[in-house]
Amino acid sequence: MFRRSVRSIMSSVKPIAYENARKEQLIEQFTAVKGMVDAEVPSGSNKVLLLAVSKLKPASDIQILYDYGVRDFGENYVQELIEKSQLLPQDIRWHFIGGLQSNKCKDLAKVANLHTVETVDSLKKARKLNEARGKYQPECEAISCNIQINTSQEDQKSGLVSEKEIFEIVEFFKSEEAKYVKLNGLMTIGSWDVSHDDTNENKDFSKLVEWKQKIDSKYGTELKLSMGMSADFKQAIKQGTSEVRIGTDIFGTRPPKNEAKI
Ligand SMILES: *Cc1c(COP(=O)(O)O)cnc(C)c1O
Repeated sequence: MFRRSVRSIMSSVKPIAYENARKEQLIEQFTAVKGMVDAEVPSGSNKVLLLAVSKLKPASDIQILYDYGVRDFGENYVQELIEKSQLLPQDIRWHFIGGLQSNKCKDLAKVANLHTVETVDSLKKARKLNEARGKYQPECEAISCNIQINTSQEDQKSGLVSEKEIFEIVEFFKSEEAKYVKLNGLMTIGSWDVSHDDTNENKDFSKLVEWKQKIDSKYGTELKLSMGMSADFKQAIKQGTSEVRIGTDIFGTRPPKNEAKI
């Protein structure tokens, strides 16, 4: 860990080696997904960001897609994101999409090329990200933040459900104090049952759209939406998402966390 961080400070990050067979496979899978995403976007609409979710996958996989031109990658675990950020090129835009803990906000905000935190689910965490960015990386770009909303109201999911709390966070982002973080949009994880029934409109996605309309009209924002994963991204695009977060369809199934190698 320590050695790696010294290496990256000296900016002598060497490109990571990879095998040609894996390169061909990954590029094929990525372009297939990208093709499906682009095909779903109605003509004349804004582009949809395809976030490559690389959690639990090796840095060499990320290097392959980076060399192919991909710059946005999603990670779920703070320590893993930090280690990968030290091994991989500095112009990668890292998106943190995992459950955010207050005591990890500082470490996350220190990552210079952390681009977006998609899972801000409390005012306290928004404040901590702002404070730490200002203290440790004041010259870096402000961290884009998405407020995570628990649209399915399942107990095991994080995210906000209360209008009062959601408005409070939006107001924080609009305040003078929030210099090192900026509000980008809203994020949700659809419930599993709903994701696997693609005959109808997805209720979680409709709810996120309603939240966007409510906040945009009250505060004059133009919030983006992050909704849709491998199982339900087509429906998310139909319902107007700005971003889909796809892991499995690009990288294949993930190893268990204790067997994953960076
Ligand atoms: C893992 C993860 C994804 C990607 O899921 P896949 O089903 O592998 O595409 C997307 N969003 C979040 C929040 C995740 O944790």
